[in-house]
Amino acid sequence: MNENELQKLVENISLKYFNRPFVHCVKINNRMRTTGGRYFLTDHHIDINGHFLLPQYYDDLIGIIKHELTHYHLHLLGLGYKHQNRDFKILLAKVGGSRYAPDIGLRNKRKINYVYECIQCHLRYPRVKRVNTARMRCGKCGGKLKMIINNKEK
Ligand SMILES: [Zn+2]
Ligand SMILES: [Zn+2]
Repeated sequence: MNENELQKLVENISLKYFNRPFVHCVKINNRMRTTGGRYFLTDHHIDINGHFLLPQYYDDLIGIIKHELTHYHLHLLGLGYKHQNRDFKILLAKVGGSRYAPDIGLRNKRKINYVYECIQCHLRYPRVKRVNTARMRCGKCGGKLKMIINNKEK
């Protein structure tokens, strides 16, 4: 999922569950480790942790988006948008947002240094260590892998 697709997804969830449009920007943040997303009070944009864009975390991603949209809409409406506020707790429960960042092991894992993507099915493989792309193939379809993110050597 790229940033445009993520933007569309957030806009759709906003209309479907909040009955209000999301008219600001969503950005993918690959440096986040323990949180799924973040809403920015200053310019109203939302950051989503790039790790949750992998297909296996789709349900978690929806929960995170609902959580951040709960901050977003309450803040713009001038209501209690903080975690401890009653408005926040009620709306979050109503739309079924996640209460905490889902634990996908990011907390305990060493930093992801490389992300590889299958050139056929686009499944992504976050890795701590470099892999030999000449030898390693996609576990799902057998396609070749290419490195798409390199956080180690910049
Ligand atoms: Zn929050
Ligand atoms: Zn594949």
